[in-house]
Amino acid sequence: MRINGNYLDLKESYLFSLIAKKVDEYKQNNPEKEIIRLGIGDVTLPLVSAVTKAMKKAVIEMENAETFMGYGEEQGYGFLRRAVCDYYEKKGVLLDETEVFISDGAKSDLGNILDIFGINNTVLIPDPVYPVYVDTNIMAGREITFINGNEDNSFLPLPDETTAGDIVYICSPNNPTGAVYTKEQLKIWVDWALERDAVILFDSAYEAFIRDENLPTSIYQIPGTKKCAIEFCSLSKTAGFTGTRCGYTVVPNELVREDIPLNRLWLRRQTTKFNGVPYIVQRGAKAVFTEQGLSQIRENIDYYLNNARIITETLLELGIWFTGGNNSPYIWLKCPDKMTSWEFFDLILDKYNIVGTPGVGFGKQGEGFFRLTAFANTDNVKIAMDRLKE
Ligand code: PLP
Repeated sequence: MRINGNYLDLKESYLFSLIAKKVDEYKQNNPEKEIIRLGIGDVTLPLVSAVTKAMKKAVIEMENAETFMGYGEEQGYGFLRRAVCDYYEKKGVLLDETEVFISDGAKSDLGNILDIFGINNTVLIPDPVYPVYVDTNIMAGREITFINGNEDNSFLPLPDETTAGDIVYICSPNNPTGAVYTKEQLKIWVDWALERDAVILFDSAYEAFIRDENLPTSIYQIPGTKKCAIEFCSLSKTAGFTGTRCGYTVVPNELVREDIPLNRLWLRRQTTKFNGVPYIVQRGAKAVFTEQGLSQIRENIDYYLNNARIITETLLELGIWFTGGNNSPYIWLKCPDKMTSWEFFDLILDKYNIVGTPGVGFGKQGEGFFRLTAFANTDNVKIAMDRLKE
């Protein structure tokens, strides 16, 4: 037996363990200090009542032989796939139910989708980036090239004629930078992909944070995209499902390579290796898309966006360069005085008792930058920002 040696090529992820270690040490040495965590990548508000009500009802159904549900429909229950299609219709995107696959979250699908692509494809990944894109491709042994985000392109890199790649990841609104592509910018990516038969893997996990009506909340709002993109979405940040687990992936029927619809391959992959999301969870997910559910989750997202606004207003006042924070729960700031990401981490932990995430943990291009998140309690965000202003 031989192991998959590609795993040995993975870089150890010290980021969050090192942060935890530094914070623990600081707490031990300064027990009287109150630390405020603005590095959290998880939601803090609970599930909304529309969701829990639907889930409770589903639990009762599972209790009775007449309404009990065993294995579910292969791609997810029709009631949920229809709800997703209706949600997209409101964005001006018409989907067929066969194009929607319900999953236990975007992370699994983003990793698993690689099963349907040949190993010899080159992958193009923006830097800095959500680390899952890089690590899953290293595990598979695929060649990776990077396209750099930086201050000059406001961390929204765009391809030109020389940019190569068969599969490209785009995350908008972006984790970690909070930056959001405009329709015009996404069109440049779509044209680039169509020209060379590349496939875009579009991660829209944070689409619900977009409040600017001119910004795209789905890549399919760009004409022609159904021929070149798969979209991954999640209820994790949209509706507080990080611990409940549900997402959906759209594989358009028009997306065909080597005469084979990728939808067919993904269906085959999922039906072979995945047995679906719990009925109770899918009922809760369906409730997200009801009028009541959508209005309740909007309130929660508004709460986080208000936190983001408090942070961005402070940065503006302090004259610190940043992206994100509008239409996104992430704020990506440039460390002042040419500090490295970790120097800035140490400084604001020691001096202001604030914890954030060093940008260099998301890629080389993240060096000198720092991520704050809006998932904290508003009172704490205000205290943290007052400390920074002082
Ligand atoms: N995509 C991005 C950009 C994320 O930041 C996250 C979670 O943090 C995910 C996907 C994964 O979401 P899920 O909880 O649905 O697996």
